[in-house]
Amino acid sequence: MFVDAHNHMDFYGKNLKKALDIIEKDDIVTLGCSMDLKSYIFTKKISAENENIIPCFGIHPWEAYKNCGDLDGFDGYVKECRAIGEIGLDYYWVLESEKYPKMGRVFEYFLDRAKYYDKIVNIHTKGAEEKILEYIRSYKLRTPIIHWYSGKVDTLKELLKLGCYFTISVDIGYSRLTDEIVKILPMDRILTETDGPTSLEWVNKEYGYPCEVENIVKKISSIKGTQYEEVKDKISSNFNRFKL
Ligand SMILES: [Zn+2]
Repeated sequence: MFVDAHNHMDFYGKNLKKALDIIEKDDIVTLGCSMDLKSYIFTKKISAENENIIPCFGIHPWEAYKNCGDLDGFDGYVKECRAIGEIGLDYYWVLESEKYPKMGRVFEYFLDRAKYYDKIVNIHTKGAEEKILEYIRSYKLRTPIIHWYSGKVDTLKELLKLGCYFTISVDIGYSRLTDEIVKILPMDRILTETDGPTSLEWVNKEYGYPCEVENIVKKISSIKGTQYEEVKDKISSNFNRFKL
């Protein structure tokens, strides 16, 4: 089994069938993150046909300002989902600081519910790594998954101490920081992810299918100097520890 611990099934459009076939054929257990409620319902529907897809409910920080008034209606979805995501803060791509209070309120709502229902969270931290560290410290969540970390190494080390897991994404081998992060992370905290088809395009202009996780495993194996099969098995057992 391979692991895609952060993907977006609603980003594939006309290529969805091909992506689903790859997920099934290559046995890629996939956390299908949502951007909002509509996106969660879409992913939940396709997960009924493909048991490798685990639909996650969350409101992405980019969508938080639009959903802030609807939080009271979300409890049932948080309760039913097997993991929460994508949630978080983004002070890098979201430039309008007037959106930050709503972003914070939505994030706090999900952290509170994650604590209450004891759920795993899938967190976006772009440009807000120190603030996220504070939140994780105060909410004392069980093993959060930090998605595609790109902040300071010192903050990463603090997040590690708090029990966080980290997804390594498609920029491995292209980003010096990501390669450095792979060197620092202990093997028992590493997961792999693709973050939808357009992330690879952003890195090297190629459309990214879920099988890209296999290349990520290869690159982790070469950076760590560990056999491919051993890395693959380790990442699966890391993921299975969540018991989703
Ligand atoms: Zn994402």
